[in-house]
Formats: sequence, C-alpha cells, structure tokens
Amino acid sequence: MKPLPIYKPEPVATHCPYCALQCGMTIDGRSAPPRVNGNEQFPVNQGSLCIKGWTSAEVLHHPDRLLKPLKRNARGVLVPVNWDDALETIASACKSTQAKYGRDAVGVLGSGSLTNEKAYLLGKFARVALGTANIDYNGRFCMSSAAAASIKALGLDRGLPFPVTDIPHAEVILLVGSNIAETMPPLMQYFEAQRASDGQLIVVDPRQTPTAQAATLHLKLIPGTDAVLANGLLHLLIRDGLIDQAYIRERTEGFAQVKGVAATYWPERVERLTGIPEAQLLRTASILGHARTAMILTARGSEQQAQGVNNTLALINLALALGQVGRPFSGFGTITGQGNGQGGREHGQKADQLPGYRKVDDPVARQHIAAVWGVDEAEIPGPGKSAYELMNALGSEIRALLTFAFNFTVSAPDAKAVKERIRKLDFLCVSDFFLSETAQLADVVLPAAQWAEEEGTMTNLEGRVIRRRRALPPPGEARSDLDVLCELAARLGRGRYFSYANAEAVFQELARATAGGVADYSGITYDKIDALQGVYWPCPSEDHPGTPHLFRHSFPTPSGKARFHAVRHLPVAEEPDVDYPYFLTTGRTLAHYQSGTQTRRVEKLQELVAEAYAEMHSNLAQRHGLLEGDSVTLATRRGRAKFRVKLSHGMREDTIFTPFHWGGENSANALTHAALDPISRMPEFKVCAVRIENRYRER
Ligand code: SF4
Repeated sequence: MKPLPIYKPEPVATHCPYCALQCGMTIDGRSAPPRVNGNEQFPVNQGSLCIKGWTSAEVLHHPDRLLKPLKRNARGVLVPVNWDDALETIASACKSTQAKYGRDAVGVLGSGSLTNEKAYLLGKFARVALGTANIDYNGRFCMSSAAAASIKALGLDRGLPFPVTDIPHAEVILLVGSNIAETMPPLMQYFEAQRASDGQLIVVDPRQTPTAQAATLHLKLIPGTDAVLANGLLHLLIRDGLIDQAYIRERTEGFAQVKGVAATYWPERVERLTGIPEAQLLRTASILGHARTAMILTARGSEQQAQGVNNTLALINLALALGQVGRPFSGFGTITGQGNGQGGREHGQKADQLPGYRKVDDPVARQHIAAVWGVDEAEIPGPGKSAYELMNALGSEIRALLTFAFNFTVSAPDAKAVKERIRKLDFLCVSDFFLSETAQLADVVLPAAQWAEEEGTMTNLEGRVIRRRRALPPPGEARSDLDVLCELAARLGRGRYFSYANAEAVFQELARATAGGVADYSGITYDKIDALQGVYWPCPSEDHPGTPHLFRHSFPTPSGKARFHAVRHLPVAEEPDVDYPYFLTTGRTLAHYQSGTQTRRVEKLQELVAEAYAEMHSNLAQRHGLLEGDSVTLATRRGRAKFRVKLSHGMREDTIFTPFHWGGENSANALTHAALDPISRMPEFKVCAVRIENRYRER
C-alpha cells in the first residue's frame, strides 16, 4: 500500500475507538498527547463523550506501546526484530504447519474492534492466502446470539433497525440485560429524553445498576430466566387481549405454536422461576400492551448464555405479538457492544460466513465471492470452528494461530484452561498495540497501528457506516494490519490477490463483495459517508440514500413475514447448589473496556476503577462477615480469582457481579462456564455457580 501522509495539520473528525456507539470526536494530532473533543455535528452523541472517550488519546503515546515486532529467542525471551524477520517467521511457520498437518491446522482469530476493511481482508486472507476454514472472531463472544435470533425471526441482523434519535419517541422501552448508563453514557441522553416525555422505561437486570435506577420499573430477575420472563409476559398479553391480531395475521407466521407454549407460562410459575413478583409481571404486561409505540431492546445480559438465542427469540416473539416491529418509534433491537461489533460480523471473519452476511456453504454466495476475489470457488474452504471450539482445539487440530486485536486469554470463558491449551501450540502470532496477556505468550508479536493512526470505516450499533480518519502517524515501526496481511499474503505466494493502493481500495472491493447480500454496502463510498454523516446499510446503489429504518413494509424472509419461534426455557448449565450456592454474573464498568488492554493503562480510568471487584448485596456480605473494600476469593468449579468487595443494596441477594476487564489472579473469566449455545456457539458468560472463599482485610 502507498505510504500515508505524516499527519493532518488540523483537528480531524473521527470516532471513539471503544464501543459500538462510535461517538463522533475530533482529534488534534499536533499536541502531545493528542487532544480529543466531542463532535457536536455527529448526530449520535451530539458532542457528548464518556470518560473512556475523553481519555482515549492517552493510549496513543503510552510508553507501553509496542514499537517494533518481537520474536521469542532460543532462551524463550521476546526480543525486538525487524519486520522482515517477523513476517518471514510467521509465513514459514504457517507453511511448515500446513505442510505437516494440513491447511486447517492454522487458525485465525479476528475482532469486532477491527475496521470493516480489516475484518474483510482478514476473512479473505484466511480463505485465499492460508486456505484455512478456521477463522472466527471475538464477536462470537458478544453478538452471536442476537445475530442468530434476529436472522431466524426477522431475516436480517442489524443491531438497531432505527436511529438512536427515535428512542425518545417510544412510549415504552423494555431494556433487557443492558447497563447503558455505565457502558454507553452518551446514549443515556435519549432514554432520559424518553422519560422526560412521560415515557416508561422498564429495565430487566439482576443488579440495580444506574440504568435500573433511572427506570420506571426494575425487574430483578434470577440470572438465566429471560426466556421465562418473555413467555410469561406473552401469556399475560394473550390472556388480557393486548396482542395485535391484525399485525400477527398480516406480517408474521408461526404464532399458533408460540401461543401454545405461552399458555404454559402462567404468572405464578413465572414468578417462581424468575423471582419477579406477579404484581410486577402484570404491571409490565399492562404497560407494554397499552403502549402505542414500544421498543424491546436486549444486550449481553440475556444473550451471553447457553440459551442466548432462545432468550432473544422469546423477546422478539413479544415484540411481534405487540405488533411493534417495523412501526415508527418502535421495534426490537440489540445494543451492540464492541466498536465495530456490527461491521465485524458482516464481512467474513466468522467461521460460517462470507462478506455481505453470506453463508459460506451457500453455492450462490460462494460463486459471487469467488468472482470478486478472482479465485476458483472450490478453493474457498467451507465452515470452520467457532471461536471457543477453535480455542478448544489449540495444540491438537490447530497447531498455529494468528490473532488480531483479541486478548482471548482474558476474555475467553474458563480462561485458565484456554491458557493451558495455548502452551501446546507450535506457533502463536499476536498483533496488538500493547503486550497484552495473550501477546506475552506469543512467538511473534506485531506492533499494530491504532484508531487515530489509520484510515477505514466502522459500522455502529445503528448500522450506520462511518469513517475512521488518520490524525497522526503510528509510533516507532507500528503498522496497520492491512499492510501486514498484504505482506504476509505475498510471502505465502498469494500476493496477487492482495494488492491495494490504500484502505479505500479495500473498501471498494468489500462493497462489490457485499452487492446483493443482506448487508449490502455496494452503494456506499467514502465520499458518500462524508456527505451524509454516515450511511445506513443496506445501500444497494450509488443513488440510494441508505436505510435508517428497517422492516417498514416487509421482512427479508422468503415469505416477507417475520417468524415466531416457540421457545421453552431450559435450565442454565450450572445451577447453584450446596457447594457453590450463588449465581455469578459478569459485565463491564464505566471506566474500562473489554479485556482492559487499553483502558487499564489510562491513569484517569485507573483512578476511577483501579481493580477488579465483586459486587454483592450487603446482606450477603454480612452473612460472610465481609465489609466494603475487603479482599475476597471467589471460586467456581473451574478456578479461583480475587476481588475487592463492593456492597450494593439493590441487587439480588443470591447473585454476585464481577467485571471482566482483568486477567491473572483477578480474572472473572477464570470462573465463567464454557457451555455453548447450540446455535450461536455463545459461551455462558452471564451465569454460573460460585462460592465465597477466603477473605482478607487490610487494616
Ligand atoms: Fe467511546 Fe462508547 Fe464512550 Fe462513546 S460511549 S465515548 S463510543 S466508549
């Protein structure tokens, strides 16, 4: 690729590197550290940033930045090497592994933090340069349940089918398993506006989060019982004649079976299973049933479970029965988590997927993509292993692994076991900004360019494709993964398929690859994104304005109708018992993001939340003789980890919450369960059985 200009001489309009809200910001690369400001022109955040956004520039010049490639020497120490040495080592490890064990023995793991261009090129690199089926990404641990359920029921997976500016106009919002006030604070302005216009916000969460505190009604459900709640509410809506019969008849199919299942979820049973008092169930059903406009929004709380797809389907059933999907200021949506969690799941870095949200085993899709790539269709491998299954095969079927922006030794469930399997690999290459916990175990580490040092596009939680712009050069010898993939492809003898002038040229090919697919970007260009403050997909032609609202008149299913799915809840993989008497659930804090590789290095964020904590009800703490600030060990059947006690008066007394941003002895994921959803292959991050062990008090 051509070298990029050194840096822009004025503040550059770009987007925050962290979550899927992708707040607009400007960055001035001339000062050190570079300065960021909220971009008031960008309609999603309208100038607001959370503390992660405000401090995001600090990681650009952080002294821990990787400045040169590293390679493990004969004494087992990672030492700086030049790029030629690093790339040659990777290419030769891939070649020798594949010669010995077959093409699929090299695995690739990508990320929902990568730009659309990188996600696309990584999928192409795996299939065309390496010829391996085994590529997946960390969005498998984030959005896969919501994605699978949305495709099954609505025919398409886009986080929100409407812009966030619709939120204030909904009379009622049922928000399930999301703590927006802490994970996406600038989004909260829309929920506050909804409440200020006499809207009702009902929050479903075992914790009394700041979001739950802002709600009209907080349903404190037992972890893992989301589908019971949804079925129970549907039971009441049917019983009380509050469903939309005309909508069900005209725009949906499959209701009769769902009605039969809902009949078995009578209120007393639902109260017993969910822990939500019957009076609250009745009130919720009544509020939902009498609303002219209603949104049902889910997030990881209900999705990161071994029943994540069923939970989501049950909630979609509810939205369909109310007749709200596709109506103005109404509908079903999921709050995407990672920065490019949306685009990251559209362009082919999933084990079963080709660009444009096409299925890798669909002959028509394969032909189309083969033509765009200029390869023989037979060369494109079939479906590979999903992320956790790929990790499970490290050291056996997978002998070499290349990973990009995925610190999976911290973010995978049952992390201790995953770490042990990494040690059995013949070769591990990690591309990252910092020497993350996973990079520390690698044979070769590549220093990657960060958000403000590269060009590309991201797709936010609304399905709006936006520009990431370069404001300054990467430090030292750090490089964009786009360059790395093209160079590696050349060393693998496949360079002719990876020749691009710049990121925009990759995007143009991506757009062609998505043409005619569900996530159709073929009418999107960098210029159009600039002119429209982002373009919503699908956008199938250059004169198409993009699609802010989905499902207005039909659904992209063979019949044009949405599909109900009869869902019976199943027990969670590990219920509390005598030995492990409480539920453990995990999540994010205001101050940190994902595995914390970046945010744990920012002083102000560390001041806010310096260490991992275990949040529990004060009565539960009292029973164990614990006070605020005590150090405590939590144990599950998979491992132990230490946390600082944080007391709460509002959460369920049988549930403990820990954030997952730390590794080592503070790793929440040393405790979590790797039971997988049978459809999405999502691990059960949100529920397992835990006990409180030792406590230590510093006096
Ligand atoms: Fe960045 Fe998300 Fe915070 Fe916005 S809400 S500033 S995108 S971390």
